[in-house]
Amino acid sequence: MSLPDLYAVLGNPVQHSRSPRIHQLFAQQCGQALRYERRLVAPGGFDAALAALRADGGRGCNVTVPCKFDAARAASRLSPRAELAQAANTLGWDEQGLLWGDNTDGIGLVRDLARLLGRDGEAQALRGMRVLLLGAGGAASGVLGSLIEAGAAQLEVWNRSHERAEGLVRRHAQLAARHGAALGASRAPARGHDLVIHATAGSLGGELPQLPPGVLHAGALAYDMMYAARPTPFVLLARAAGARAHDGLGMLVEQAAESFALWRATRVRTEPVLRQLRAELDAEAAAS
Ligand code: NDP
Repeated sequence: MSLPDLYAVLGNPVQHSRSPRIHQLFAQQCGQALRYERRLVAPGGFDAALAALRADGGRGCNVTVPCKFDAARAASRLSPRAELAQAANTLGWDEQGLLWGDNTDGIGLVRDLARLLGRDGEAQALRGMRVLLLGAGGAASGVLGSLIEAGAAQLEVWNRSHERAEGLVRRHAQLAARHGAALGASRAPARGHDLVIHATAGSLGGELPQLPPGVLHAGALAYDMMYAARPTPFVLLARAAGARAHDGLGMLVEQAAESFALWRATRVRTEPVLRQLRAELDAEAAAS
């Protein structure tokens, strides 16, 4: 008897990832069987980790911090959104054994934001909003195009290494112009944004970007791509400043559903999975 299809999440760190649980719940929901593992990537070892997964019969993988740019480079063919991002979070091998890459982070984030903002659908979820994106790594690169397409009026990108923010903005300049969005990179984040998205990996090491006073304020929605059993440091910071704040669990579930659809040609319902995951995280917090 053959084993169920094998998938994995590749990254470093990866132990905290809830992706195996999410894909298990998706598979249960639609009566499919699959295996989904966490695989730790050694520094500089992305290609080796990918080759090992393939050798074990892997059908595809999700890619997390810090490997999304490596994933895009490894793919023989990229979707337009992954090409624009130069970052991939979803890889799969086709019938000919060629590796394709896609990026579902942007659609995942915008779906969760639409839900949190009470907007109907993702097409114009951010219509007219002023958005600050903190970070210019694989995650930020994967979402900027979707934020523009969701109708944001102004987008400011801030990153610790300013030149990376500038590069990201340059790559998206044409898309922003087509959508009439004002897009720029800044050395210090300005005040007055309606939505502040934290997409740095700083919180994995317990460090937050230093933000000038007033960037997080009452009336703003703050979104941390990081998620945890307890409120993340960024969520706590934002709430202390009076902002409404949410972690990235909803994005995680939504981007995973898109990956699942790409691999399995099956659409799943995300609400019950998000409810279940949140209940499990709450139970962990209560037990600790
Ligand atoms: P990358 O390694 O590709 O990029 C890291 C980013 O974080 C860079 O912008 C880097 O800045 C910045 N950074 C790292 N450390 C610090 C620090 N101490 N202070 C300020 N900035 C810092 O990682 P990803 O972009 O792939 O991931 C970023 C985060 O987003 C992770 O926490 C990841 O778990 C989360 N994520 C969550 C998802 C979800 O579905 N909820 C999906 C995708 C990501 P610099 O360029 O200066 O090095």
